[in-house]
Amino acid sequence: MKLGKPLYLLFLLTTTQTLAGERAVLSCEAAHLDTNKTVPVKIVSAITKQRIATAQWPLGYPTIAINESEFSRLPELSRHFVYYHECAHLVKQLKDEAQVDCVALEMMRDQQQVSKYEMRLLVDELSTSLGLSRRWTNLLKCEAFIHSSTD
Ligand SMILES: [Zn+2]
Repeated sequence: MKLGKPLYLLFLLTTTQTLAGERAVLSCEAAHLDTNKTVPVKIVSAITKQRIATAQWPLGYPTIAINESEFSRLPELSRHFVYYHECAHLVKQLKDEAQVDCVALEMMRDQQQVSKYEMRLLVDELSTSLGLSRRWTNLLKCEAFIHSSTD
């Protein structure tokens, strides 16, 4: 998570609130930093080599900046996870990545009805597309996985 990097303003290409090409509707609402009003999160294209996506507040507006070419290469569950991970940063304003990952999983369960089986698939997908990491297997320690009833 990076706060208000003005450089990104140069790379704003789109201001759509939904992601093109997604079958499921991904939606995220978070507070505007100045007004504290809940607004639909903006999606913008960002050209960055280091990250697939980041959560930012340009001029206080909750925004997900996405590197579309990297993002579109990911399988569907992983794309949704990346989206909800950034959404979780914007909604909860947390810095702890493990906590944010768990909130993302919770959002996927509540908004996309992602099952326990799909959560396991997600861990596989992330490990394959982004590399093996304890971070992915730790998703199976999240409350959203443990207390999910649907298999
Ligand atoms: Zn993060």
